[in-house]
Amino acid sequence: MKVVLEHLTKVFTNKKQKSEVRAVDDLNIEIPDGKLIGLLGPSGCGKSTTLYMISGLQEPTSGRIHFDDADVTDLAPEKRGIGLVFQNYALYPHMTVAQNIMFPLISAKMKKKDAILRAYETAKIVQIDNLMDRKPSELSGGQQQRVAIARALVKSPNVLLLDEPLSNLDARLRLQTREEIKRIQRETGVTTIFVTHDQEEAMSISDYIVVMKLGVMQQVGKPQDVYDDPVNLFVANFLGTPPINIFKGYIKDKGVYIDEERVLDTELADQEVYVGIRPEGFVVDPNGAFTCHIDHIEVMGRDISIVSTHEASTKPTIRSIVDSLTEMPREGDVKFNLRPQKVHLFDIQTEKRLK
Ligand code: ATP
Repeated sequence: MKVVLEHLTKVFTNKKQKSEVRAVDDLNIEIPDGKLIGLLGPSGCGKSTTLYMISGLQEPTSGRIHFDDADVTDLAPEKRGIGLVFQNYALYPHMTVAQNIMFPLISAKMKKKDAILRAYETAKIVQIDNLMDRKPSELSGGQQQRVAIARALVKSPNVLLLDEPLSNLDARLRLQTREEIKRIQRETGVTTIFVTHDQEEAMSISDYIVVMKLGVMQQVGKPQDVYDDPVNLFVANFLGTPPINIFKGYIKDKGVYIDEERVLDTELADQEVYVGIRPEGFVVDPNGAFTCHIDHIEVMGRDISIVSTHEASTKPTIRSIVDSLTEMPREGDVKFNLRPQKVHLFDIQTEKRLK
Protein backbone atom coordinates (compact mmCIF):
# COMPACT_ATOMS: atom_id res chain seq x y z
CA MET A 1 0.00 0.00 0.00
CA LYS A 2 1.25 3.47 -0.93
CA VAL A 3 1.39 6.06 1.87
CA VAL A 4 1.15 9.74 0.98
CA LEU A 5 1.71 12.57 3.45
CA GLU A 6 0.45 15.95 2.27
CA HIS A 7 1.51 19.12 4.08
CA LEU A 8 1.48 17.12 7.31
CA THR A 9 1.98 19.41 10.30
CA LYS A 10 1.84 18.95 14.06
CA VAL A 11 2.08 21.88 16.46
CA PHE A 12 2.07 21.21 20.20
CA THR A 13 0.91 24.18 22.25
CA ASN A 14 1.58 24.65 25.92
CA LYS A 15 -1.13 27.04 27.04
CA LYS A 16 0.41 27.67 30.48
CA GLN A 17 3.77 28.71 29.08
CA LYS A 18 2.17 30.19 25.96
CA SER A 19 4.75 28.32 23.87
CA GLU A 20 4.54 26.28 20.70
CA VAL A 21 6.59 23.44 19.25
CA ARG A 22 6.31 22.72 15.52
CA ALA A 23 7.16 19.04 15.88
CA VAL A 24 6.43 18.32 12.20
CA ASP A 25 6.32 21.13 9.67
CA ASP A 26 4.70 20.78 6.24
CA LEU A 27 5.89 17.26 5.50
CA ASN A 28 5.26 16.03 1.95
CA ILE A 29 6.32 12.47 1.17
CA GLU A 30 5.12 9.68 -1.08
CA ILE A 31 6.11 6.25 0.21
CA PRO A 32 5.86 3.65 -2.55
CA ASP A 33 4.02 0.37 -2.04
CA GLY A 34 6.08 -2.47 -0.56
CA LYS A 35 9.14 -0.41 0.30
CA LEU A 36 11.01 0.08 3.55
CA ILE A 37 11.51 3.73 4.47
CA GLY A 38 13.88 4.92 7.19
CA LEU A 39 12.75 8.11 8.95
CA LEU A 40 16.01 9.49 10.23
CA GLY A 41 17.14 12.45 12.29
CA PRO A 42 18.47 13.54 15.68
CA SER A 43 16.41 13.36 18.85
CA GLY A 44 13.46 15.74 18.77
CA CYS A 45 13.32 16.17 14.98
CA GLY A 46 9.73 14.88 14.77
CA LYS A 47 10.21 11.27 13.66
CA SER A 48 7.98 9.67 16.29
CA THR A 49 5.32 12.35 15.92
CA THR A 50 5.21 11.62 12.17
CA LEU A 51 4.83 7.90 12.85
CA TYR A 52 2.08 8.47 15.41
CA MET A 53 0.15 10.65 12.98
CA ILE A 54 0.37 7.91 10.34
CA SER A 55 -0.85 5.39 12.92
CA GLY A 56 -3.71 7.64 14.03
CA LEU A 57 -2.50 7.81 17.64
CA GLN A 58 -1.90 11.52 17.17
CA GLU A 59 -4.07 13.93 15.25
CA PRO A 60 -2.34 16.29 12.80
CA THR A 61 -2.75 20.03 13.26
CA SER A 62 -3.11 20.23 9.48
CA GLY A 63 -2.40 18.21 6.35
CA ARG A 64 -3.70 14.88 5.08
CA ILE A 65 -2.64 11.23 5.13
CA HIS A 66 -3.59 8.86 2.30
CA PHE A 67 -3.23 5.07 2.13
CA ASP A 68 -3.44 4.41 -1.62
CA ASP A 69 -6.45 6.46 -2.72
CA ALA A 70 -8.18 6.51 0.67
CA ASP A 71 -7.88 9.55 2.92
CA VAL A 72 -7.31 8.04 6.39
CA THR A 73 -6.61 11.29 8.25
CA ASP A 74 -9.81 11.10 10.29
CA LEU A 75 -9.93 7.32 10.61
CA ALA A 76 -9.47 5.69 14.04
CA PRO A 77 -6.15 3.80 14.48
CA GLU A 78 -7.80 0.36 14.58
CA LYS A 79 -9.49 1.01 11.24
CA ARG A 80 -6.27 1.91 9.39
CA GLY A 81 -4.86 -1.60 9.12
CA ILE A 82 -1.51 -0.78 10.64
CA GLY A 83 0.94 -2.85 12.68
CA LEU A 84 2.96 -0.96 15.29
CA VAL A 85 6.16 -1.97 17.06
CA PHE A 86 7.57 0.28 19.76
CA GLN A 87 11.00 0.53 21.32
CA ASN A 88 9.84 -1.34 24.45
CA TYR A 89 8.09 -4.28 22.92
CA ALA A 90 5.12 -4.00 25.33
CA LEU A 91 4.41 -7.73 25.36
CA TYR A 92 1.86 -9.02 27.86
CA PRO A 93 4.05 -10.69 30.53
CA HIS A 94 1.42 -13.16 31.77
CA MET A 95 0.68 -14.49 28.26
CA THR A 96 2.68 -17.02 26.28
CA VAL A 97 4.30 -16.09 22.98
CA ALA A 98 1.39 -17.73 21.12
CA GLN A 99 -1.19 -15.82 23.16
CA ASN A 100 0.68 -12.54 22.62
CA ILE A 101 0.76 -13.04 18.86
CA MET A 102 -2.89 -14.14 18.74
CA PHE A 103 -4.08 -11.25 20.86
CA PRO A 104 -5.02 -8.87 18.01
CA LEU A 105 -6.94 -11.69 16.27
CA ILE A 106 -8.87 -12.72 19.38
CA SER A 107 -9.69 -9.03 20.02
CA ALA A 108 -11.03 -8.88 16.46
CA LYS A 109 -13.24 -11.89 17.31
CA MET A 110 -11.52 -14.39 15.05
CA LYS A 111 -12.27 -18.02 15.93
CA LYS A 112 -9.61 -19.45 18.24
CA LYS A 113 -8.77 -22.32 15.87
CA ASP A 114 -8.15 -19.93 12.97
CA ALA A 115 -6.22 -17.53 15.21
CA ILE A 116 -3.85 -20.31 16.32
CA LEU A 117 -3.18 -21.30 12.73
CA ARG A 118 -2.52 -17.73 11.68
CA ALA A 119 -0.29 -17.09 14.74
CA TYR A 120 1.86 -20.11 13.83
CA GLU A 121 2.13 -18.98 10.21
CA THR A 122 3.32 -15.55 11.33
CA ALA A 123 5.67 -16.98 13.97
CA LYS A 124 7.29 -19.05 11.22
CA ILE A 125 8.04 -15.94 9.17
CA VAL A 126 9.88 -14.35 12.10
CA GLN A 127 11.36 -17.74 13.08
CA ILE A 128 10.00 -18.09 16.62
CA ASP A 129 7.54 -20.94 16.04
CA ASN A 130 9.64 -23.11 18.39
CA LEU A 131 9.10 -20.68 21.29
CA MET A 132 5.31 -20.45 21.30
CA ASP A 133 4.77 -21.83 24.82
CA ARG A 134 7.29 -19.56 26.54
CA LYS A 135 6.50 -16.41 28.48
CA PRO A 136 8.24 -13.14 27.42
CA SER A 137 10.49 -13.24 30.52
CA GLU A 138 11.96 -16.51 29.20
CA LEU A 139 13.09 -14.91 25.93
CA SER A 140 16.15 -12.88 24.90
CA GLY A 141 15.71 -9.25 23.83
CA GLY A 142 15.98 -10.20 20.17
CA GLN A 143 13.37 -12.95 20.54
CA GLN A 144 10.99 -10.59 22.35
CA GLN A 145 11.43 -8.15 19.53
CA ARG A 146 10.45 -10.81 17.00
CA VAL A 147 7.33 -11.61 19.02
CA ALA A 148 6.40 -7.92 18.89
CA ILE A 149 6.90 -7.92 15.12
CA ALA A 150 4.85 -11.10 14.73
CA ARG A 151 2.05 -9.53 16.76
CA ALA A 152 2.17 -6.46 14.51
CA LEU A 153 2.13 -8.62 11.37
CA VAL A 154 -0.49 -11.16 12.38
CA LYS A 155 -3.43 -9.20 11.00
CA SER A 156 -1.63 -8.68 7.65
CA PRO A 157 -1.40 -4.91 8.07
CA ASN A 158 -1.34 -2.49 5.15
CA VAL A 159 1.50 -0.62 6.74
CA LEU A 160 4.05 -1.66 9.37
CA LEU A 161 5.33 1.12 11.64
CA LEU A 162 8.49 0.55 13.67
CA ASP A 163 9.57 3.11 16.27
CA GLU A 164 13.25 2.61 17.21
CA PRO A 165 12.65 -1.16 17.45
CA LEU A 166 16.31 -2.04 17.97
CA SER A 167 17.31 0.43 20.69
CA ASN A 168 17.08 -2.08 23.53
CA LEU A 169 19.34 -4.65 21.89
CA ASP A 170 23.11 -4.98 22.28
CA ALA A 171 25.33 -4.11 19.31
CA ARG A 172 25.64 -7.60 17.80
CA LEU A 173 21.96 -8.36 18.16
CA ARG A 174 21.04 -5.01 16.64
CA LEU A 175 23.01 -5.95 13.56
CA GLN A 176 21.39 -9.38 13.27
CA THR A 177 17.91 -8.11 13.97
CA ARG A 178 18.06 -5.28 11.46
CA GLU A 179 18.93 -7.80 8.75
CA GLU A 180 16.06 -9.90 10.00
CA ILE A 181 13.65 -6.95 9.71
CA LYS A 182 14.76 -6.43 6.13
CA ARG A 183 14.18 -10.11 5.35
CA ILE A 184 10.74 -10.12 6.96
CA GLN A 185 9.81 -6.94 5.12
CA ARG A 186 10.92 -8.42 1.77
CA GLU A 187 9.06 -11.68 2.40
CA THR A 188 5.82 -10.04 3.44
CA GLY A 189 6.07 -7.10 1.02
CA VAL A 190 4.40 -4.85 3.59
CA THR A 191 5.08 -1.11 3.26
CA THR A 192 7.23 -0.35 6.29
CA ILE A 193 8.25 2.88 7.99
CA PHE A 194 11.16 2.56 10.34
CA VAL A 195 12.07 5.37 12.75
CA THR A 196 15.63 5.64 14.00
CA HIS A 197 18.25 8.21 14.98
CA ASP A 198 20.99 5.77 13.94
CA GLN A 199 22.08 6.67 10.42
CA GLU A 200 24.01 3.45 9.88
CA GLU A 201 20.94 1.41 10.80
CA ALA A 202 18.70 3.41 8.48
CA MET A 203 21.19 3.35 5.61
CA SER A 204 21.77 -0.40 5.87
CA ILE A 205 18.18 -1.57 5.54
CA SER A 206 16.10 1.18 3.95
CA ASP A 207 15.05 1.39 0.32
CA TYR A 208 14.70 5.13 0.86
CA ILE A 209 15.67 7.38 3.74
CA VAL A 210 13.99 10.59 4.82
CA VAL A 211 16.29 12.91 6.77
CA MET A 212 14.56 15.33 9.15
CA LYS A 213 15.74 18.29 11.24
CA LEU A 214 13.56 20.28 13.65
CA GLY A 215 10.35 18.97 12.10
CA VAL A 216 11.41 19.80 8.54
CA MET A 217 12.28 17.22 5.91
CA GLN A 218 15.75 17.91 4.55
CA GLN A 219 16.14 15.23 1.89
CA VAL A 220 14.62 11.99 0.68
CA GLY A 221 16.28 9.41 -1.54
CA LYS A 222 18.09 6.10 -1.80
CA PRO A 223 20.63 5.86 1.04
CA GLN A 224 23.68 5.87 -1.25
CA ASP A 225 22.33 8.78 -3.32
CA VAL A 226 21.72 10.90 -0.22
CA TYR A 227 25.19 10.03 1.07
CA ASP A 228 26.82 10.90 -2.25
CA ASP A 229 24.73 14.01 -2.96
CA PRO A 230 23.70 15.65 0.32
CA VAL A 231 21.65 18.81 -0.22
CA ASN A 232 23.13 20.67 2.74
CA LEU A 233 25.72 20.62 5.48
CA PHE A 234 23.32 19.08 8.01
CA VAL A 235 22.60 16.02 5.84
CA ALA A 236 26.28 15.65 4.91
CA ASN A 237 27.21 15.76 8.59
CA PHE A 238 24.47 13.41 9.74
CA LEU A 239 25.27 10.56 7.35
CA GLY A 240 28.52 8.62 7.46
CA THR A 241 30.78 6.97 10.02
CA PRO A 242 33.28 8.40 10.67
CA PRO A 243 31.52 11.67 9.84
CA ILE A 244 32.46 14.00 7.03
CA ASN A 245 35.33 16.43 7.79
CA ILE A 246 34.37 20.09 7.53
CA PHE A 247 36.84 22.91 6.85
CA LYS A 248 36.43 26.64 6.39
CA GLY A 249 37.85 27.49 2.99
CA TYR A 250 37.39 29.73 -0.01
CA ILE A 251 37.25 29.68 -3.78
CA LYS A 252 39.64 31.90 -5.74
CA ASP A 253 40.46 31.82 -9.47
CA LYS A 254 38.75 28.45 -10.03
CA GLY A 255 40.58 26.82 -7.13
CA VAL A 256 39.32 25.57 -3.75
CA TYR A 257 41.63 26.69 -0.95
CA ILE A 258 42.00 25.45 2.60
CA ASP A 259 44.47 27.49 4.62
CA GLU A 260 46.30 28.95 1.58
CA GLU A 261 46.65 25.48 0.01
CA ARG A 262 44.91 24.95 -3.32
CA VAL A 263 43.38 21.51 -2.85
CA LEU A 264 41.01 21.18 -5.80
CA ASP A 265 39.83 22.77 -9.05
CA THR A 266 36.30 24.12 -9.37
CA GLU A 267 34.09 25.97 -11.82
CA LEU A 268 32.41 27.97 -9.05
CA ALA A 269 32.82 31.73 -8.52
CA ASP A 270 35.07 33.26 -5.86
CA GLN A 271 33.50 33.04 -2.40
CA GLU A 272 33.96 31.67 1.10
CA VAL A 273 32.79 28.07 1.49
CA TYR A 274 32.61 25.15 3.84
CA VAL A 275 34.58 22.28 2.36
CA GLY A 276 33.28 18.85 3.37
CA ILE A 277 35.61 15.91 2.76
CA ARG A 278 34.45 12.34 3.35
CA PRO A 279 36.99 10.18 5.25
CA GLU A 280 37.45 8.06 2.11
CA GLY A 281 38.11 11.23 0.08
CA PHE A 282 41.76 11.43 1.18
CA VAL A 283 44.53 9.73 -0.79
CA VAL A 284 47.99 9.61 0.75
CA ASP A 285 50.45 11.22 -1.70
CA PRO A 286 53.90 12.65 -0.87
CA ASN A 287 53.23 15.38 -3.46
CA GLY A 288 49.68 16.06 -2.25
CA ALA A 289 48.57 19.64 -1.67
CA PHE A 290 46.83 19.05 1.64
CA THR A 291 49.04 18.61 4.70
CA CYS A 292 47.85 17.36 8.08
CA HIS A 293 49.64 16.50 11.28
CA ILE A 294 49.07 12.87 12.28
CA ASP A 295 47.93 12.37 15.88
CA HIS A 296 47.68 8.61 15.64
CA ILE A 297 46.91 5.79 13.26
CA GLU A 298 44.31 3.11 13.92
CA VAL A 299 44.75 -0.14 12.03
CA MET A 300 41.34 -1.72 11.38
CA GLY A 301 42.15 -4.77 9.28
CA ARG A 302 42.23 -3.78 5.66
CA ASP A 303 41.46 -0.12 6.27
CA ILE A 304 43.46 2.25 8.36
CA SER A 305 42.09 5.33 9.99
CA ILE A 306 44.42 8.32 10.22
CA VAL A 307 43.44 10.68 12.98
CA SER A 308 45.07 14.04 12.36
CA THR A 309 44.67 17.77 12.85
CA HIS A 310 44.49 20.76 10.55
CA GLU A 311 43.94 24.31 11.71
CA ALA A 312 41.11 25.02 9.30
CA SER A 313 39.04 22.04 10.48
CA THR A 314 35.83 23.01 12.26
CA LYS A 315 36.18 19.87 14.39
CA PRO A 316 39.15 19.04 16.64
CA THR A 317 40.27 16.05 14.59
CA ILE A 318 40.22 14.92 10.99
CA ARG A 319 39.47 11.33 10.18
CA SER A 320 40.60 9.78 6.96
CA ILE A 321 40.16 6.17 5.92
CA VAL A 322 42.82 4.77 3.62
CA ASP A 323 43.67 1.36 2.21
CA SER A 324 46.41 -0.33 4.26
CA LEU A 325 47.58 -2.35 1.25
CA THR A 326 48.67 0.69 -0.72
CA GLU A 327 48.76 3.71 1.52
CA MET A 328 50.45 2.97 4.85
CA PRO A 329 51.50 6.40 6.16
CA ARG A 330 54.21 7.16 8.73
CA GLU A 331 53.92 9.18 11.94
CA GLY A 332 54.48 12.94 11.64
CA ASP A 333 52.93 14.95 8.85
CA VAL A 334 50.96 13.41 6.02
CA LYS A 335 50.20 14.85 2.61
CA PHE A 336 46.95 14.05 0.88
CA ASN A 337 45.36 14.46 -2.48
CA LEU A 338 41.58 14.58 -2.57
CA ARG A 339 39.08 12.54 -4.56
CA PRO A 340 36.89 15.26 -6.11
CA GLN A 341 33.67 13.19 -5.97
CA LYS A 342 34.13 12.86 -2.19
CA VAL A 343 34.44 16.60 -1.63
CA HIS A 344 31.36 18.78 -1.23
CA LEU A 345 31.23 22.58 -1.10
CA PHE A 346 28.59 24.44 0.93
CA ASP A 347 27.44 28.05 1.00
CA ILE A 348 28.81 29.67 4.14
CA GLN A 349 25.51 31.42 4.97
CA THR A 350 22.74 29.06 3.89
CA GLU A 351 24.83 25.86 4.32
CA LYS A 352 23.24 24.58 1.09
CA ARG A 353 25.43 22.49 -1.15
CA LEU A 354 27.03 24.34 -4.05
CA LYS A 355 28.21 21.37 -6.05
P1 ATP B 1 13.35 10.98 19.72
O1 ATP B 1 14.32 10.33 18.80
O2 ATP B 1 14.02 11.62 20.93
O3 ATP B 1 12.17 10.14 20.07
P2 ATP B 1 11.78 12.37 17.70
O4 ATP B 1 12.55 12.78 16.50
O5 ATP B 1 10.97 11.13 17.60
O6 ATP B 1 12.77 12.28 18.94
P3 ATP B 1 9.37 13.66 18.55
O7 ATP B 1 9.17 12.75 19.72
O8 ATP B 1 8.51 13.47 17.38
O9 ATP B 1 10.89 13.61 18.09
O10 ATP B 1 9.27 15.16 19.08
C1 ATP B 1 9.40 16.29 18.22
C2 ATP B 1 9.28 17.57 19.04
O11 ATP B 1 7.96 17.67 19.55
C3 ATP B 1 10.22 17.62 20.23
O12 ATP B 1 10.68 18.95 20.36
C4 ATP B 1 9.34 17.24 21.39
O13 ATP B 1 9.78 17.84 22.59
C5 ATP B 1 7.98 17.79 20.96
N1 ATP B 1 6.86 16.98 21.50
C6 ATP B 1 6.61 15.68 21.26
N2 ATP B 1 5.47 15.26 21.86
C7 ATP B 1 5.00 16.35 22.53
C8 ATP B 1 3.86 16.60 23.35
N3 ATP B 1 2.95 15.63 23.61
N4 ATP B 1 3.70 17.84 23.86
C9 ATP B 1 4.58 18.84 23.59
N5 ATP B 1 5.68 18.67 22.81
C10 ATP B 1 5.89 17.46 22.29
